[in-house]
Amino acid sequence: MTLEIPHSDYYRFAQKFSVEDQAMLAQLRTFLNDRVAPRVNDLWAKEEFPYDLVQPLADMGLFGLPFKDSKHYHGDAFFRGWVSFEIAKVDASLATFLGVQAELSTGSIALCGSSEQVREWIPRLTDGSTIASCGITEPGSGSDTARGMQTTAKREGDSWVLNGQKRWIGNATWADICVIWARDVEDNQVKGFIVPTDTPGFTATKIVNKQSLRIVQNADIVLDNVRVSDDLKLANGNSFADLSRVLKGTRTQNGWFAAGVQAGAFELALDYAREREQFGKPIASYQMIQDLLVKSLGNLTASLSMMARLAELTNAGERVDEQAALAKAYTSSRARETVSWCRELFGGNGIDLGYGIARFFGDAEAVHTYEGTREMNTLIVGRDITGIGAFQ
Ligand SMILES: Cc1cc2nc3c(=O)[nH]c(=O)nc-3n(C[C@H](O)[C@H](O)[C@H](O)COP(=O)(O)OP(=O)(O)OC[C@H]3O[C@@H](n4cnc5c(N)ncnc54)[C@H](O)[C@@H]3O)c2cc1C
Repeated sequence: MTLEIPHSDYYRFAQKFSVEDQAMLAQLRTFLNDRVAPRVNDLWAKEEFPYDLVQPLADMGLFGLPFKDSKHYHGDAFFRGWVSFEIAKVDASLATFLGVQAELSTGSIALCGSSEQVREWIPRLTDGSTIASCGITEPGSGSDTARGMQTTAKREGDSWVLNGQKRWIGNATWADICVIWARDVEDNQVKGFIVPTDTPGFTATKIVNKQSLRIVQNADIVLDNVRVSDDLKLANGNSFADLSRVLKGTRTQNGWFAAGVQAGAFELALDYAREREQFGKPIASYQMIQDLLVKSLGNLTASLSMMARLAELTNAGERVDEQAALAKAYTSSRARETVSWCRELFGGNGIDLGYGIARFFGDAEAVHTYEGTREMNTLIVGRDITGIGAFQ
């Protein structure tokens, strides 16, 4: 089976995939079109997560793609990124769920766990039987977590006691575990812990009335003398530098989300422009409407081109943090522009959720903010090219 190439893939990137990979992407597209697209606006309106879709996504092997220890490992970063792109094209919330489950949470354990921890946790996280979340951000520290993280970890004999608060933690209302990053009171270093969410003292409260990624279940977390045994401390998660190794992957994935959001908005806008008539003709026949569409396609294609090169660097083992930061900052800024042009093309219907475009418009905001805002990622690149840190 070969994959149909839509206008949103204008440079025909998907043509590069093997027949087997194209077949898997075609299966994923069918799943997204049949099981996700028809419900997504309703779920967004109700702030509900489609829990019934988790196991089918896991059964397609999607949770295990990035991990060498998973039977679903896929060695091509471009393919892994394209999977995120396809999901975000239909629903950025579902893509975010997958990002939190796989890249951020399982990624923390895969990159910072001991070989025993990897052996114990990766199989159950990748087969979908364990759902994960990851707590880094706090009410008082988002952009400056490296310096400002207040949640503490105190070693007491064979266990650790965690105290503090986390904010915005995706999946945390229903996850089985939360990877908590906390500051060791002994050496002041940020360290990672696998916390089962039924541990006494752990509470997660859903954040309601979000206007972006409403399907993702984000939580405020309180850790009140949460005690975990030492074997739940990530053996190699002992500093902010260790956490940064995880964030390099998640920032890259967010670039793919930003491209996906643009593709979803563009496809909706193109269909609408062909169907909607004003002054007796489809609005697609007007030059200014074509300008909105082509500008959007240009942004989207530039974003995909950037992500394709980043994937090549990843495959070669040459990708550095700053390259991931530039991709995140650039593609998420383009996403904001693109969804705004596409929404504009819908006129009044552009703010009616039933037409779908308003959802992309809202979702682009959180994609622009999480995993480091545009400003933070810009400062990371700025420090690299000037040699001068301008964070404060
Ligand atoms: C939907 C959603 C899901 C999320 N999921 C998770 C999750 O699963 N786990 C998790 O740990 N976190 C998660 N986050 C948190 C996210 O990573 C933070 O929101 C983000 O890092 C920004 O932090 P903040 O919101 O505290 O903003 P702040 O850090 O308060 O920033 C506010 C503004 O100030 C700017 N700013 C700050 N410092 C500077 C500076 N030095 N120079 C210039 N400008 C500056 C920022 O760019 C921003 O525009 C999520 C957030 C959202 C919205």
